[in-house]
Amino acid sequence: MSGMWTVKVVGLGVVALSLSVELLGWLLHRLRPKRARTEVLFFPSEMACLEHIFAPSLPQSCCCSLPHGVETSFTRLLRCILSASSSLDVCVFAFSNMDLCKAVLKLQCRGVPIRVLCDKDYAAIHGSQIGVLRRAGICARCDLGSVYMHHKFAVVDNRLLITGSLNWTMTAVQSNKENVIVTEDPDLVGPFLKEFQRLWLHSDPAQYFHLSDPKPADKPTIPSTDKP
Ligand SMILES: [Zn+2]
Repeated sequence: MSGMWTVKVVGLGVVALSLSVELLGWLLHRLRPKRARTEVLFFPSEMACLEHIFAPSLPQSCCCSLPHGVETSFTRLLRCILSASSSLDVCVFAFSNMDLCKAVLKLQCRGVPIRVLCDKDYAAIHGSQIGVLRRAGICARCDLGSVYMHHKFAVVDNRLLITGSLNWTMTAVQSNKENVIVTEDPDLVGPFLKEFQRLWLHSDPAQYFHLSDPKPADKPTIPSTDKP
Protein backbone atom coordinates (compact mmCIF):
# COMPACT_ATOMS: atom_id res chain seq x y z
CA MET A 1 0.00 0.00 0.00
CA SER A 2 2.75 2.41 0.98
CA GLY A 3 4.45 1.50 -2.31
CA MET A 4 1.36 2.63 -4.25
CA TRP A 5 1.25 5.92 -2.33
CA THR A 6 4.87 6.52 -3.05
CA VAL A 7 4.25 5.98 -6.78
CA LYS A 8 1.26 8.34 -6.70
CA VAL A 9 3.12 11.05 -4.80
CA VAL A 10 6.12 10.80 -7.11
CA GLY A 11 3.79 10.91 -10.14
CA LEU A 12 1.99 13.97 -8.88
CA GLY A 13 5.32 15.58 -8.10
CA VAL A 14 6.52 14.98 -11.65
CA VAL A 15 3.31 16.47 -13.09
CA ALA A 16 3.53 19.51 -10.78
CA LEU A 17 7.18 20.02 -11.69
CA SER A 18 6.53 19.88 -15.42
CA LEU A 19 3.61 22.29 -15.07
CA SER A 20 5.80 24.67 -13.06
CA VAL A 21 8.51 24.57 -15.73
CA GLU A 22 5.89 25.30 -18.42
CA LEU A 23 4.49 28.19 -16.39
CA LEU A 24 7.95 29.60 -15.72
CA GLY A 25 8.79 29.47 -19.44
CA TRP A 26 5.56 31.25 -20.34
CA LEU A 27 6.17 33.94 -17.74
CA LEU A 28 9.74 34.51 -18.91
CA HIS A 29 8.51 34.78 -22.50
CA ARG A 30 5.85 37.33 -21.51
CA LEU A 31 8.21 39.38 -19.35
CA ARG A 32 11.07 39.43 -21.85
CA PRO A 33 11.33 42.90 -23.45
CA LYS A 34 10.06 42.81 -27.01
CA ARG A 35 12.65 43.36 -29.70
CA ALA A 36 12.29 46.79 -31.27
CA ARG A 37 11.08 46.77 -34.86
CA THR A 38 13.94 47.25 -37.28
CA GLU A 39 13.95 47.22 -41.06
CA VAL A 40 16.73 47.84 -43.57
CA LEU A 41 15.93 49.24 -47.01
CA PHE A 42 18.31 49.46 -49.94
CA PHE A 43 18.07 51.73 -52.93
CA PRO A 44 17.77 52.26 -55.87
CA SER A 45 14.24 51.04 -55.49
CA GLU A 46 12.40 49.07 -58.14
CA MET A 47 9.99 51.23 -60.09
CA ALA A 48 6.37 50.54 -59.21
CA CYS A 49 3.05 52.34 -59.32
CA LEU A 50 2.29 54.07 -56.03
CA GLU A 51 -1.48 54.22 -56.38
CA HIS A 52 -2.05 51.49 -53.76
CA ILE A 53 0.06 53.49 -51.30
CA PHE A 54 -1.63 56.85 -51.74
CA ALA A 55 -5.17 55.59 -52.32
CA PRO A 56 -5.36 52.13 -50.68
CA SER A 57 -9.12 52.24 -50.20
CA LEU A 58 -9.92 52.92 -53.84
CA PRO A 59 -10.21 50.15 -56.43
CA GLN A 60 -7.23 50.01 -58.76
CA SER A 61 -7.85 52.46 -61.55
CA CYS A 62 -4.39 53.49 -62.71
CA CYS A 63 -3.50 52.51 -66.26
CA CYS A 64 0.21 53.34 -66.15
CA SER A 65 2.77 50.86 -67.42
CA LEU A 66 4.46 50.33 -64.05
CA PRO A 67 3.84 47.18 -61.96
CA HIS A 68 0.85 47.61 -59.63
CA GLY A 69 0.43 46.46 -56.04
CA VAL A 70 4.16 45.75 -55.74
CA GLU A 71 6.09 46.34 -52.50
CA THR A 72 9.48 47.97 -52.96
CA SER A 73 11.99 49.79 -50.77
CA PHE A 74 10.30 53.04 -51.72
CA THR A 75 6.78 51.84 -50.95
CA ARG A 76 8.05 50.60 -47.58
CA LEU A 77 9.58 54.02 -46.92
CA LEU A 78 6.35 55.77 -47.92
CA ARG A 79 4.30 53.46 -45.69
CA CYS A 80 6.53 54.32 -42.72
CA ILE A 81 6.06 58.05 -43.33
CA LEU A 82 2.32 57.72 -43.93
CA SER A 83 1.95 55.77 -40.67
CA ALA A 84 2.42 59.06 -38.78
CA SER A 85 -0.57 59.99 -36.64
CA SER A 86 0.77 62.49 -34.10
CA SER A 87 3.96 64.03 -35.56
CA LEU A 88 6.52 63.96 -38.34
CA ASP A 89 9.94 65.57 -38.00
CA VAL A 90 12.04 65.59 -41.17
CA CYS A 91 15.69 66.62 -41.25
CA VAL A 92 17.16 66.19 -44.73
CA PHE A 93 19.83 67.95 -46.74
CA ALA A 94 17.79 67.81 -49.96
CA PHE A 95 14.05 67.44 -50.43
CA SER A 96 12.97 67.36 -54.08
CA ASN A 97 11.18 64.02 -54.39
CA MET A 98 7.58 64.80 -55.33
CA ASP A 99 6.20 61.47 -54.06
CA LEU A 100 7.74 62.04 -50.64
CA CYS A 101 6.35 65.58 -50.77
CA LYS A 102 2.94 64.12 -51.63
CA ALA A 103 3.16 61.82 -48.59
CA VAL A 104 4.01 64.76 -46.32
CA LEU A 105 1.15 66.82 -47.78
CA LYS A 106 -1.21 63.90 -47.18
CA LEU A 107 -0.22 63.90 -43.52
CA GLN A 108 -0.78 67.65 -43.43
CA CYS A 109 -4.33 67.07 -44.72
CA ARG A 110 -4.85 64.57 -41.89
CA GLY A 111 -3.83 67.25 -39.38
CA VAL A 112 -0.52 65.65 -38.37
CA PRO A 113 1.89 68.30 -37.02
CA ILE A 114 4.92 68.40 -39.34
CA ARG A 115 8.32 70.06 -39.03
CA VAL A 116 10.80 70.05 -41.90
CA LEU A 117 14.41 71.15 -41.61
CA CYS A 118 16.74 71.31 -44.61
CA ASP A 119 19.94 72.86 -45.78
CA LYS A 120 19.67 76.55 -46.68
CA ASP A 121 21.70 76.23 -49.90
CA TYR A 122 19.50 73.43 -51.18
CA ALA A 123 16.09 74.84 -50.16
CA ALA A 124 15.76 77.29 -53.04
CA ILE A 125 17.28 75.33 -55.92
CA HIS A 126 15.21 74.16 -58.88
CA GLY A 127 13.03 71.20 -57.95
CA SER A 128 13.19 71.72 -54.21
CA GLN A 129 9.85 70.93 -52.56
CA ILE A 130 10.42 73.25 -49.61
CA GLY A 131 8.38 76.02 -51.25
CA VAL A 132 5.55 73.57 -51.97
CA LEU A 133 5.50 72.50 -48.33
CA ARG A 134 5.51 76.09 -47.09
CA ARG A 135 2.70 77.09 -49.43
CA ALA A 136 0.67 74.22 -47.97
CA GLY A 137 1.20 75.69 -44.51
CA ILE A 138 3.90 73.30 -43.33
CA CYS A 139 6.57 74.80 -41.12
CA ALA A 140 9.86 74.30 -42.96
CA ARG A 141 13.06 75.84 -41.67
CA CYS A 142 16.52 76.10 -43.15
CA ASP A 143 19.62 75.46 -41.13
CA LEU A 144 21.37 78.79 -40.67
CA GLY A 145 24.87 77.45 -40.07
CA SER A 146 27.85 78.06 -42.34
CA VAL A 147 28.36 74.37 -43.08
CA TYR A 148 26.04 71.86 -44.73
CA MET A 149 23.10 70.51 -42.79
CA HIS A 150 23.84 67.08 -44.20
CA HIS A 151 21.53 64.85 -42.14
CA LYS A 152 19.04 62.48 -43.71
CA PHE A 153 16.63 61.37 -41.06
CA ALA A 154 13.00 61.59 -40.03
CA VAL A 155 11.14 60.64 -36.87
CA VAL A 156 7.53 59.48 -37.02
CA ASP A 157 5.30 59.95 -33.93
CA ASN A 158 8.41 60.38 -31.74
CA ARG A 159 8.91 56.59 -31.93
CA LEU A 160 9.96 55.50 -35.41
CA LEU A 161 13.31 56.60 -36.77
CA ILE A 162 14.11 56.60 -40.50
CA THR A 163 17.78 57.28 -41.17
CA GLY A 164 20.53 56.46 -43.65
CA SER A 165 22.29 57.82 -46.69
CA LEU A 166 19.14 58.61 -48.66
CA ASN A 167 18.38 62.22 -49.50
CA TRP A 168 14.71 62.81 -50.30
CA THR A 169 15.38 63.21 -54.02
CA MET A 170 14.28 61.30 -57.12
CA THR A 171 17.90 60.47 -57.99
CA ALA A 172 18.57 58.98 -54.57
CA VAL A 173 15.43 56.82 -54.72
CA GLN A 174 15.67 55.67 -58.34
CA SER A 175 19.37 55.73 -59.22
CA ASN A 176 21.80 55.88 -56.33
CA LYS A 177 23.03 53.07 -54.13
CA GLU A 178 21.64 54.12 -50.76
CA ASN A 179 20.58 52.61 -47.48
CA VAL A 180 17.89 53.39 -44.94
CA ILE A 181 17.37 51.93 -41.48
CA VAL A 182 13.91 52.07 -39.93
CA THR A 183 13.85 51.39 -36.22
CA GLU A 184 11.74 51.80 -33.12
CA ASP A 185 14.72 51.21 -30.81
CA PRO A 186 14.35 53.95 -28.18
CA ASP A 187 18.13 54.03 -27.66
CA LEU A 188 18.42 55.28 -31.26
CA VAL A 189 15.21 57.26 -31.57
CA GLY A 190 15.91 59.31 -28.43
CA PRO A 191 19.21 60.92 -29.52
CA PHE A 192 17.81 61.73 -32.98
CA LEU A 193 14.78 63.42 -31.44
CA LYS A 194 17.06 65.42 -29.16
CA GLU A 195 19.28 66.46 -32.07
CA PHE A 196 16.27 67.43 -34.17
CA GLN A 197 14.94 69.64 -31.38
CA ARG A 198 18.37 71.26 -30.96
CA LEU A 199 18.70 72.00 -34.69
CA TRP A 200 15.08 73.14 -34.94
CA LEU A 201 15.51 75.72 -32.19
CA HIS A 202 18.85 76.79 -33.62
CA SER A 203 17.21 77.34 -37.02
CA ASP A 204 14.40 79.49 -35.72
CA PRO A 205 14.72 82.85 -37.54
CA ALA A 206 13.15 84.57 -34.55
CA GLN A 207 16.00 83.30 -32.38
CA TYR A 208 18.76 84.00 -34.85
CA PHE A 209 19.95 87.30 -33.49
CA HIS A 210 19.70 86.14 -29.91
CA LEU A 211 21.92 83.20 -30.70
CA SER A 212 24.51 85.06 -32.70
CA ASP A 213 24.46 88.64 -31.54
CA PRO A 214 23.95 90.15 -28.10
CA LYS A 215 22.86 93.41 -29.77
CA PRO A 216 20.14 92.51 -32.28
CA ALA A 217 19.01 96.13 -32.71
CA ASP A 218 22.35 97.00 -34.35
CA LYS A 219 22.01 94.32 -37.01
CA PRO A 220 20.24 94.80 -40.34
CA THR A 221 17.06 92.80 -40.80
CA ILE A 222 17.49 89.44 -42.50
CA PRO A 223 14.44 88.19 -44.40
CA SER A 224 12.68 85.38 -42.58
CA THR A 225 13.24 81.89 -43.97
CA ASP A 226 10.50 80.40 -41.88
CA LYS A 227 7.01 80.25 -43.30
CA PRO A 228 4.25 80.37 -42.46
ZN1 LIG B 1 -0.25 52.84 -62.11
